[in-house]
Amino acid sequence: MDKSCEMEQKSTVYGPVRSWRVGMSLGIDLLLVDSICSFRCIYCQLGRINIHTGERQVFVPTEKIISDLMAAEWQAADVITLSGSGEPTLAANLGEVIHAIKALTGKPLVVLTNSAHLNDPQVRRELLEADKIFCKLDAADDDTLKLIDRPVEGVTVRTIVDGIKALRKEYSGYLAIQTMLMPLNIGQIGGLAELLNEIKPDEVQLNTPLRAVPREWITQSRGDHGERNYPTVRLKVIDRQEAERIEAELRRLTGLPIISVYDKQPGG
Ligand code: SF4
Repeated sequence: MDKSCEMEQKSTVYGPVRSWRVGMSLGIDLLLVDSICSFRCIYCQLGRINIHTGERQVFVPTEKIISDLMAAEWQAADVITLSGSGEPTLAANLGEVIHAIKALTGKPLVVLTNSAHLNDPQVRRELLEADKIFCKLDAADDDTLKLIDRPVEGVTVRTIVDGIKALRKEYSGYLAIQTMLMPLNIGQIGGLAELLNEIKPDEVQLNTPLRAVPREWITQSRGDHGERNYPTVRLKVIDRQEAERIEAELRRLTGLPIISVYDKQPGG
């Protein structure tokens, strides 16, 4: 089956799934044709990123996305989230899709981004209608960025942070930083705190890869929080005690509101 037939048969809409950060979230996938991202994070819940690119293009026509959304039970969702099979800001119809979803549903709209393309003024313009933007920041130096996020050529901690800061200036909605805590970056809390003090986000969200990671990409892994009937691997996580210590340290160094995935786990 060629890619366009395959795409016609799959939906760009999935869920709603319960998210620890936003409640019942209906996911929208602007990539769909494959797993496509400018990062290849070692903890990626999509499994393998098959197309590693920084080039923007239209992967799924806006008409298909809107028709999938109207066919779904979007009214039951607390929020609509752009995430899906990779990095949503790579979709060149991002702004058009955000505008159409807001006009049709009136629901709060969240964009999850790896932050790699926020130094592009066009990407920032297209994001302005979103209600919340969650920007990834996993590393305080380029060596750690390469080890954890494995970005395409040209993406550095400085281009990421400058992009987020530019967005912060132009965007009046809610901007959060999401950081995946791993053994590779927990020695960088001081450096991360300095970057957070530059950015001054509304919130910092600390995560750790509690869910097993699929071995390869399948569409089903989008927003999949349930039983998994496909091969996965477990990664080393930061335990609750260590996460609490880091949260307290970051709060002391930045004074920012911080939430942790462990707050939402049983016993949290
Ligand atoms: S940025 Fe997101 S989609 Fe891209 S590799 Fe990392 S976790 Fe996966």
